[in-house]
This record gives sequence, structure tokens and C-alpha cells, in this order.
Amino acid sequence: MQSVKISLNESDIPRQWYNLAADLPTPMLPPLGPDGNPIGPEMLAPVFPMNLIEQEVSAERWIDIPDEILNILYRWRPAPLRRAVFLEKYLDTPARIYYKDESVSPPGSHKPNTSVAQAWYNKQFGIKKLTTETGAGQWGSALAFACQLVGLECKVFMVRISFDQKPFRKMMMATWGANCVASPSSETNAGRKILEEMPDTPGSLGIAISEAIEQAVTDPSGETRYSLGSVLNHVLMHQTIIGLEAKKQLEIAGEKLPDMVIGCAGGGSNFAGVSFPFVADKINGADIKIIPVEPTACPTMTRAPFAYDFGDTACTTPLLAMHTLGHAFVPPPIHAGGLRYHGMAPLVCQAIVEGLLEPRAYHQLQSYEAAVTWARTEGFIPAPEPSQALAAVIDEAKKAKEEGKEKVILFCYSGHGLMDLMGYDAYLSGKLTDYELPQEELQKYTKDLENLPKAEARKSGKW
Ligand SMILES: *Cc1c(COP(=O)(O)O)cnc(C)c1O
Repeated sequence: MQSVKISLNESDIPRQWYNLAADLPTPMLPPLGPDGNPIGPEMLAPVFPMNLIEQEVSAERWIDIPDEILNILYRWRPAPLRRAVFLEKYLDTPARIYYKDESVSPPGSHKPNTSVAQAWYNKQFGIKKLTTETGAGQWGSALAFACQLVGLECKVFMVRISFDQKPFRKMMMATWGANCVASPSSETNAGRKILEEMPDTPGSLGIAISEAIEQAVTDPSGETRYSLGSVLNHVLMHQTIIGLEAKKQLEIAGEKLPDMVIGCAGGGSNFAGVSFPFVADKINGADIKIIPVEPTACPTMTRAPFAYDFGDTACTTPLLAMHTLGHAFVPPPIHAGGLRYHGMAPLVCQAIVEGLLEPRAYHQLQSYEAAVTWARTEGFIPAPEPSQALAAVIDEAKKAKEEGKEKVILFCYSGHGLMDLMGYDAYLSGKLTDYELPQEELQKYTKDLENLPKAEARKSGKW
């Protein structure tokens, strides 16, 4: 019988995270402060604890994972690598499709790989409470889970429209002991200001970020910090445990390096997690196609300029050099598939500028079609985000069939869709349509970038 899952023992768990910043042929552009000059670590100190800021700016290739963090991760890690033999059979493809199953964590996604690490480092630093934002609630629930296990208070600002329409993750957060409020809220200046101007606003991730940061930095006790679930260097690094485990498991399965690594990218963390250990191989000469996938409704990597921009709507964060749709970007309500953030992790963007990655965008009907095919062959119901990656996996598996080539494909199954069934309902009842962000919209949102410092796209020219 064909083996369908490759497990590792707890003793085989990776003991170090991988930091791609150490190996990029051309370094990333530095974050800039309000005066246009690079910021120093001390400027981030009101927002993040110094032990995480050190990771954020680290140039070390490997960083040890503390045993106390591993002791929490063992609840579900090492995560299984599965082979999608039933999908392969259905597609009649010579490709061998492997997926790293991150849906097995208690909150159901890859996000606790970093929420646990961040909560633990904050606790070590003497912090008592973390604030954060959440869209559909995946990150909020992952941080609530981690804070409960580590012993921190947790406050989550949840985008209003999701707070009203997607109650289940809010209940998960409450079960794990967190306090979740709708954003914009009347608890912060940023929230009150927006409520005054637009009392009926559905909210946005950018607004919720502004509120969470404000509440952290204005706590007079100094014992509150902010936590971000994606985009930042240290977050991506915490996720590399995914790709490092996958590497060992592919070896056990008798494979050499994969021909392709595929992941969906919203802020870039699960994609970076599965792919960066293989980007390192590519930098060292391996021939691997590495594909981050996004929705056509929010085409950050495939159409947006590489520019300096703020991470939030209220322009309170440092300026980051990244592909960005503009900090005022609000995705259209027709889009059901997550991955809505206006920017993208600077580390992922520098790898794109280098030519190491081949980003791709898919329409939502094709990704839901892929998700349903997956559910009807493999059996698991995917979250809408990895369904975007699945559309690319199925395309590549069909191409391998046409070319008669035995391609090895690895992708990140970043989470299950059991909390996202409304999207399936909309798809199955024919209510979803495709949407591609019109060029005028893109120009409207990115116009403000002209008044910010320019980001030079620097590359070695090797790829
Ligand atoms: C949050 C989330 C994503 C998108 O975030 P990234 O930082 O790009 O990984 C993708 N998949 C799932 C299941 C998520 O919860």
C-alpha cells in the first residue's frame, strides 16, 4: 500500500529556526521612521519586547528554539507530511504531491507556531498583556490560545464585519480566556476618530492594527506589548519549522529536493515557513520553482509596486519596503477568500525582487473549485487561503501530466476550513463571482505612495 503520511518523532523536531535574511544575496532595505531615516531597535521598544526585536533585526542564520517553546509545540508538532495520493489518482498525474498539514494545531492553522513563541518571549521579558488585531479571527484565536498556555492577558481587536458575521472564532477566543472587541471600538483614539467620521464602517485590518498598537503603547504600567501574526521577519522565522520538518520528511519518503514549493500568501508567513529552507537551497544552486499564491482581488505581489509604505491605515508603523496596494486599500466585499492585507512581508518581497520566487494570482471560483475537488478526493475541507495554493498545485499537476514528468510538489496546507463554511455555501449555491481588482482602483490606492520615500529594487541579477 502507498504510504499516505510521514510522521516524525518528537525527538526529531527542529531545534533551530532558519533566518533567510542571513543568506539573501542582496540585503533588504531597512524600515524607515517618520523622518525618512532608518529606525533603530530602541524605536520599536514601546511596541515589542527587546528579545523579539533582537530576532527581528538578527543576521544570524540559525536561532535556537527554547525548550519551553518546544514543550508547548509538542502538543501537535512535528506536524504530519501527507501525500495526496487520492488527488494524484483523480488527476491521473505522474506528479507526487506532498502537503505539510498545519491544520492539526488546536486553533486549526499554522499561526500558533509564532503565537506561542511570541507569547513566551513576551512573558520572559516581564510583559503581562498582549494586544493584537484579527480579521476573520484565525490570528486572534491563535494568540488567545498561546497567551492562555503561557499565562498572559490577551486583548483582540476584531474587524467589525467579521465580528458580526463570523462569531465562531470569537467564541474560541473567549474559551481560551481572551477579551475580543469589534474594531473600530470606542476604547482608543484611533477607533473613536473613525467611528465619528464613519459610524457604519465595516472596519479593516489597518484600522484594527492602529487600535491594538495604540492600546499597547499607551498602557501607563508599561507591561503591555503588541503582537503581529505575519509580515515581520521574526514571525516568518518562527514559521520555518514547517519547511525544516518537511525537509526531513521528504527524505524519509525517499525524495530528494522538491521540484516545486507552493504556498498561499496573505502577509507571507506560512509561505515563508514552508519555502524559506528551500529558498536557501535555491540560493545555493538548486533548481526549484517556488510559488507564492494570492487572490486576483488583492494582487499585492503580482501587480502592486515595490515601495515604502505604512503597515496600518493610521500611518503609525515604520515604513516597510514591500509590494503594497497602499495602506488605505480595502478589499471588495465580494472577495470571500482571506489574504486581504495591503502589503506583504518585506523578506518575501526582497526574494521576489531577487527573482527567487514566481508569484501567481488566482480567481476565487478556481480556488473554490480546487477546494471542493480536494474535499471530495483527500477528504479534508481546506480553509479558503490554502485553497488558493491548491489551485496552483492542481494546475502544476495537470501540466506534469501533459509533459509526462514526475514532478515532486510540496505545498503548505495552512489550515482547515471548518470555521469558514459560509464561503463554501456561497460557492455551492452559485453566489460567488470572480473579481479582478480594476487598474483604476489600484492606481487610486497606490497614489499616496508617491509622497513617501522611494524603495529601490536592488538585486544581484543571478535569477
Ligand atoms: C492567516 C492565514 C493565512 C494567511 O497568512 P500568512 O501570514 O500569509 O500565512 C493563510 N492560511 C491560513 C489558514 C491562515 O489562517
